[in-house]
Amino acid sequence: MKLMYNPSKPGELLFPGFVWRSKNNKILLTFDDGPNPDTTEIILRILQKLNVKALFFLVGNNIKKYPSLTGELLSAGHEFGNHTFNHKNLQFAGNRGIYNEITNFNKISNEIIGRQTRYFRPPKGRFNFRLSKELKKFGLTNVMWSLLTFDYKNDLNIVKFAVKNFINSDSIAVFHDSNKSKLIIEDSLELFADEITKRGYEFGTPFECLN
Ligand SMILES: [Zn+2]
Repeated sequence: MKLMYNPSKPGELLFPGFVWRSKNNKILLTFDDGPNPDTTEIILRILQKLNVKALFFLVGNNIKKYPSLTGELLSAGHEFGNHTFNHKNLQFAGNRGIYNEITNFNKISNEIIGRQTRYFRPPKGRFNFRLSKELKKFGLTNVMWSLLTFDYKNDLNIVKFAVKNFINSDSIAVFHDSNKSKLIIEDSLELFADEITKRGYEFGTPFECLN
């Protein structure tokens, strides 16, 4: 199957209310699916070295399982977003299913983080008009991406290809805070940062890139 490093044009045209790229010509780094005991701390160490603030799309059930890792990433100055409670594909979920996934996430984030987020990203990038409408009711901004690195395929050459060919000065890039990318996440982030330096691009904070 052909890998789609960039989102499809029809998706962008049909859902102009979603965020598809950074708003300030700086690069936003995002991590999906954490927190995760085998990768979150590796990622935090690299981000600290690079002096970059990222947006972590957390899974509610992982916040519940790993509250101290959640605390660590927030106290390091990173932002979090809602990636549902169970990492459920919402494309075929009814209103009730969507509502439950979002509110269960909000409950656990209120309990453990002490606040809610304005940012949402759908699991597996699957969305439809129903989800778009529900997100509006919750006041959530759907943050998509302009660069999918496929780090979860655990192949550094794919990441390298994606970054070299599809990076832009306003990219929103997706990496994963999960065991799938555990073996290559460090090298992936290093090569990503090197490419940005080489091109004279800049990283932005989640607030700068999304407001
Ligand atoms: Zn995910």
